[in-house]
Order: sequence, then structure tokens, then C-alpha cells
Amino acid sequence: MALIVQKYGGTSVGSTERIKNVARRVAHHHRQGHQMVVVVSAMSGETNRLLALAKELSPNPDPRELDVVAATGEQVTIGLLAIALTEMGFKAKSYTGGQVRILTDDAYTKARILAIDEAAMRRDLDEGTIVIVAGFQGVDAEGNITTLGRGGSDTSGVALAAALTADECQIYTDVDGVYTTDPRIVPEARRLSTVTFEEMLEMASLGSKVLQIRSVEFAGKYKVKLRVLSSLDEPESNAPGTLITFEEKQNMEQAIISGIAFNRDEAKISVMGVPDKPGIAYAILGPVAAANLDVDMIVQNIGASGHTDFSFTVNRTEFAKTLDVLEQHRGKDFAAREIIGDKHICKVSVVGIGMRSHVGIAAKMFKTLADEGINIQMISTSEIKISVVIDEKYLELAVRVLHKAFELEKEPA
Ligand code: ASP
Ligand code: MG
Repeated sequence: MALIVQKYGGTSVGSTERIKNVARRVAHHHRQGHQMVVVVSAMSGETNRLLALAKELSPNPDPRELDVVAATGEQVTIGLLAIALTEMGFKAKSYTGGQVRILTDDAYTKARILAIDEAAMRRDLDEGTIVIVAGFQGVDAEGNITTLGRGGSDTSGVALAAALTADECQIYTDVDGVYTTDPRIVPEARRLSTVTFEEMLEMASLGSKVLQIRSVEFAGKYKVKLRVLSSLDEPESNAPGTLITFEEKQNMEQAIISGIAFNRDEAKISVMGVPDKPGIAYAILGPVAAANLDVDMIVQNIGASGHTDFSFTVNRTEFAKTLDVLEQHRGKDFAAREIIGDKHICKVSVVGIGMRSHVGIAAKMFKTLADEGINIQMISTSEIKISVVIDEKYLELAVRVLHKAFELEKEPA
């Protein structure tokens, strides 16, 4: 007998028909003798609808009241799922975040979980009751309703699994696991049976949207065994999904590279012909940071005759604003010959924990791109990833040739 926490996203509970399907899946696991805790999101689109109602009444709603409104979406789905399971003949009981007592800080709309009281859930589980908990929400020390930020139900699921020391936390979504890359670009992309926690963190931050990044961080901190699975499969299917592991390469695939991530959400800005002297990076990026604009990759050229060029990437939605900020400070805080912007770039990254113990991965990546005549504009590396910025028009080609070069379509021996 195991204790399993399952989390279902908005699409999986998007209609009463789908809720019945979730109930069948939960029942299937319960029948196998497992204790079940089920965390659900609001029905798909519901949180957006609720937040839009508040915005109709005020451009700037009080965050406390916004959370009171937003948290109702999950209250509906926990009740409906409990009703569906009861109708099937199971004992099931729903809890809001406050009823469990998922204690959070009071940072409304982006609260962090501080503690979870598991006593009531334990009692239910011991009596064979299926426990259903509202995702995305908690309660602060004063009893105010709080929410955990968009996509926060993933974090609720992982936090409950940590508090209950569950044997596994299963995140059900509309894909059947984590892939070597997006199958829409590379049809040969392969579902990974395992991926390490660190690789998953990199992939989440590089643009893979399978899991909320905070939930992955939480799982890492509390060593929660996490698995991503599809809720679209038959409820009785025992599809394994992707397991996120902590052990490096123990009973695991021996791939050096696990996946190729990409991101088209960035834009590049180059500040040309700036004086090559101490303080110049700060003079350029200080105001950008002060304006709350996120900078990702940064490259500064070697100086020549006292001048250098300075390039960095920002979120594409913040491109115009960043250019504005730079123009406001140019001439005052720094001199520049020219400021050039390029929105037609993308970032392509290879990720793999095996890079730590293998040399030549970067060279192979660069040669593969060179062979296709793809120019690399920027490079950044960490212990387990190499990212390049290239012209957006080569994105699909780059991902395809890299996937092939690293033989990701093949199951590792
Ligand atoms: N319902 C919330 C949202 O849409 C939380 C979640 O689904 O994870 O962001
Ligand atoms: Mg989600």
C-alpha cells in the first residue's frame, strides 16, 4: 500500500464528463489498495473568468479580495469530484486550503506555503476515505484566504506530498510526460522515462511549460518523488509518464543530453561603441534592473581602441520598454554610438546532467549549427546546459539537427 498524491489541472476537470474520468482514475488507484489524496485546479478558463470579473469592477482590485474571488474556482471542483466519487460508491471528502490548514504567508496572489496540518487528512486516509484538496490556495495566520500564483496547484500537490511524506506525487496534465523536445517540431521526439530534478529545473526555466517552476524547486527541496502523466489516457491505463529523479544515473538512461529546449520569447539589444571602462555594465543594466526588466543572457565584446559593444536579451514583451529606458539614460549615464534591437531571435539550449562528465558537447553543438550555416549570436553555459541565441528563422532547423546529432530519438543503451 502506498500513499499517492495526484494533481489534476484545469483541462482534466474542465467538464463534469472529465471530472467523472478523474474519479475513475482515482478509483482505479484506490482499488489497488493505495491511500489517495487528490489535488485539483479550477475548471479550465475559470480562474481567468473570475479575475476578469474583479477587473470589471476595479482596475486595481484589493489583492485580499482578489484571492477571495480566485479561490472559489477550486472550491467548485473539489466538491464536484467528491460528489462523483461518492456516487461511484467511494468514501470521499473535500477540503479547501483553509480547511486543511495550508498555512501561507500573507503575500496575496503569490503566497508561499509555510506549513500544512496533515492530522485531519491522515484520519480520513486511515478510514479509507479519498481526500480531495483544493489546489492554488491556503490561509494566512489571520485566517485570510490566499492564493499561490498562477499555476500554483502544482505547488499545492508537491507541498501536500511533502507534508504527508507520500510515496509519489503524480501530476496529471495534457501531455503524457516530458519529451526530449517538442514533438510538434521533431516528430521523433521521445518521452523520457526519467529526467533528473536538476534537468527538469533547467527545462522549466528554459521554456518547457510542463510544470510550474516553483513546484519543481519545492520537490527538490523536500525530495518528493514526482511523476508527470497524461490525464487523457484511459483511467485504467498504467502508462508510466516521466519520473523526476534525484539519483544521478542510477538505474537510469545513460544519455549525456536529455533534451533540447527553446524559447522564442526573448529579444536582443546591442549597445554599440560604449567606452571600455569600469562601471559601464552597471551604467547600462542598472537602469534596466531598476525598471524591473528581466535580463537573461549578457555578452560584452573585447574592447578595441577604448570602445566595446554590449549585448543582452530581455523578454520580448519588454523589448520596447527596455529600449525606452536605455534611450533615457544614454548620453547621461553612458555614451553609445548606436543602440540596435533585434526581436527576431530565439534561444536554443541543450540540457543534460551527463555534460558534467563529458567534454566536447559544446563543440559538437557548435559544429552541428555551423554545418547548417546557422550563425551563433550569443552563448551562455552552466554545468548542465549550453544555450545559444540564433536568428529565429532557424529555430526549427536548429532543434531538428541538434536532436539528430545527439541521437535523442534513440532509446539510450
Ligand atoms: N487555477 C489556477 C490557475 O489557473 C491554479 C492552477 O490551475 O494551477 O492558475
Ligand atoms: Mg498548470
